[in-house]
Amino acid sequence: MSDCLFCNIIEKKADADIVYEDEDIIAFKDINPVAPVHLLIVPRKHFDSILSIGEEDAYLVGRLHLVVNKLAGEFGLQERGFRIVINCGEEGGQAVLHLHFHLIGGKPLYHNIAKGRGV
Ligand code: 5GP
Ligand code: ZN
Repeated sequence: MSDCLFCNIIEKKADADIVYEDEDIIAFKDINPVAPVHLLIVPRKHFDSILSIGEEDAYLVGRLHLVVNKLAGEFGLQERGFRIVINCGEEGGQAVLHLHFHLIGGKPLYHNIAKGRGV
């Protein structure tokens, strides 16, 4: 999609600090990191959000998790721990409408919205 920022990064029409690439997945550093490690792990295939994936995408979605594990190792997060975030839609805070995992770590992440604090 030509009007999609992450498609443009995938197609090398826009710059990014790329840390991983294979035929289906790309990962790059978030331009506005919230922690010492903040990576975006992105399928090359355009999905507006997690709501757009289908049964045929299950393997790809599984592989996104394997890339999380690999990068968590390379960025020294496996021992310390980290967080994966997928924002979806307006109230979920999704700003870029191309499915992506945030991999965040390198400092304690005490604010745990999934446990109802800080909502
Ligand atoms: P969302 O809010 O959609 O879950 O996350 C979008 C993320 O993309 C944000 O964390 C934001 O900082 C990041 N971002 C926005 N524009 C760019 C860009 O041009 N390059 C990179 N590397 N990250 C971006
Ligand atoms: Zn896209």
